[in-house]
Amino acid sequence: MGECPICGQAGGELVWDGRELEGSRRWVRCAECRTARDIEPAPASRPVGEPLDLHAAILAADELISRLQGVGYGESWLARSPARPMLLEYGSGNGSMLSAADWRGFEPVGVEPDPERAALARGRLGVLVFEQLAAVPVMPTDVVVVDRLSRYDNPVALLTSLVSRLVVGGLVVITLPLLDHPLHRASGQMNPLWCTDEHALLFERTGLSRLLLRAGLLPECSWHHPSRPGEAVIVARRA
Ligand SMILES: [Zn+2]
Repeated sequence: MGECPICGQAGGELVWDGRELEGSRRWVRCAECRTARDIEPAPASRPVGEPLDLHAAILAADELISRLQGVGYGESWLARSPARPMLLEYGSGNGSMLSAADWRGFEPVGVEPDPERAALARGRLGVLVFEQLAAVPVMPTDVVVVDRLSRYDNPVALLTSLVSRLVVGGLVVITLPLLDHPLHRASGQMNPLWCTDEHALLFERTGLSRLLLRAGLLPECSWHHPSRPGEAVIVARRA
């Protein structure tokens, strides 16, 4: 069953065996950091799972980004000068977060590997989107956003490469479902998260704090996602 991609611990406890249910998988939980990872069968691709309603997505993104005011960003939506803080979103999808960030006074850049979604974001919302991180010009970045970090097999490597672009003191904003979120605790063994293809890893707070530490980040604040029940928004700062 391999090693935990967050802390390197081998093995773990089988916490969900859904092989008899169509479309569900087996999950192992790390004894050290409690991060759950899927073992066979791994899905061929992971659906994005974001809302189809672009209007609702933009409003939710705006609500989220407006909260960054509390940590010193997003105040400049009326004033286009001095320089606007730079925001990079990895996995920018339909561009809702980028357009909300633009409206709130950021200079937003997105990375979206799906060419169709990238084209939709560019064409409909007029935002700047690249298809790979390596194509984004290297410049001092104030805020990095990663929606549904649980989609990625190796979040340590992903976050580390994103953090290397951040200014010291810059922010990382992560959204993800946490298994120790009260709404997910309440569903227990019938937790629907075990059955979806969307997530490669499922975190509890222990594993998440380990991940932030390994990526050189200090936790800053967190709140419930404005529109997705059971999901958390975590804000961390580059040390
Ligand atoms: Zn672990």
